[in-house]
Amino acid sequence: MPQHASNTPVCCACDGFATAAITTGARHRNGSRATLTVACPACKGTGHTARAHASVKAGR
Ligand SMILES: [Zn+2]
Repeated sequence: MPQHASNTPVCCACDGFATAAITTGARHRNGSRATLTVACPACKGTGHTARAHASVKAGR
């Protein structure tokens, strides 16, 4: 079975992770980069593309 099912609208912006890591430019004391994890604005944290896209296709 392929990893990406054709009928699963995975968000292309976050690749289905539903979150996006934003690098702040700052670093932690241990040297690692400080990042902010926010909900993906493209899919609003769902990890899938908006349903409107699919409903347009199904509405016909
Ligand atoms: Zn997304």
